[in-house]
Amino acid sequence: MTGKKVYLTIDDVPSRDFREKLDFLYKRNIPAVFFCVGKDMENHEEDLVEAVRRGYILGNHSYEHGYFSEMQLVECRASIQRTDEIIDRVYRKSGIERTKKFFRFPYFDQGGSADSKSYEARWSRPQSEWFVYEREDRRLAIQEFLKELGYSQPRLEGINMKFLTDKTLLEGIDVRCTFDQMEYFFGTDYAPYGMDKEAAILARIEEDVPYGGRALNCLETTDIVLVHDHENTTELFYKIIGRYVEKGFEFLRF
Ligand SMILES: [Zn+2]
Repeated sequence: MTGKKVYLTIDDVPSRDFREKLDFLYKRNIPAVFFCVGKDMENHEEDLVEAVRRGYILGNHSYEHGYFSEMQLVECRASIQRTDEIIDRVYRKSGIERTKKFFRFPYFDQGGSADSKSYEARWSRPQSEWFVYEREDRRLAIQEFLKELGYSQPRLEGINMKFLTDKTLLEGIDVRCTFDQMEYFFGTDYAPYGMDKEAAILARIEEDVPYGGRALNCLETTDIVLVHDHENTTELFYKIIGRYVEKGFEFLRF
């Protein structure tokens, strides 16, 4: 299949294997945004500098990767700002100007309070639609803070809203996703639909359920794809990206 366009986002960067994954993507000319966890950045600063020099964008994924709805507002702000400063430093070291500031919440938890009623039904949806928010005041205060720091929603093209139940996907400052690879369930004992197994995770790529968060075989929409830089799924990471390449996906630049 050709003609499918995707935006690739990699979360929880950097792991021990980050450099290897960076080389893998770079060799194949695959652009991506790396959403970085601040507390892990110092151990891999040189690799992150190299990523920036190679044209990759470093996004902010908070400092400690906590649930924002469970943190005090002041902690949420500090977490965003601290990571923002570390990213600034990496860009300065790289000699590349930081022109795009993107943020993604850990667990897509925008900082309101989560409504767990929909828990049972959520597995078929992209992770970005798992939470329903009630505390609008808190949520909006964090959005406002992101805006003050210069963060913005990227201009993403071709995303067809008719396939999304959550119509607010592109309205916030933060970056969400439309296809969740869910490889983080690998080897866990709480995975839905047998997703603890590699075969089930890879099979997700072949499914054609565009109204259920699996639209990679549907040409009517571009997808924002989410994969993670986790050490326990490094081998799987290569298989997943390799499969995207085999399928002829066009990887769009943010
Ligand atoms: Zn994450």
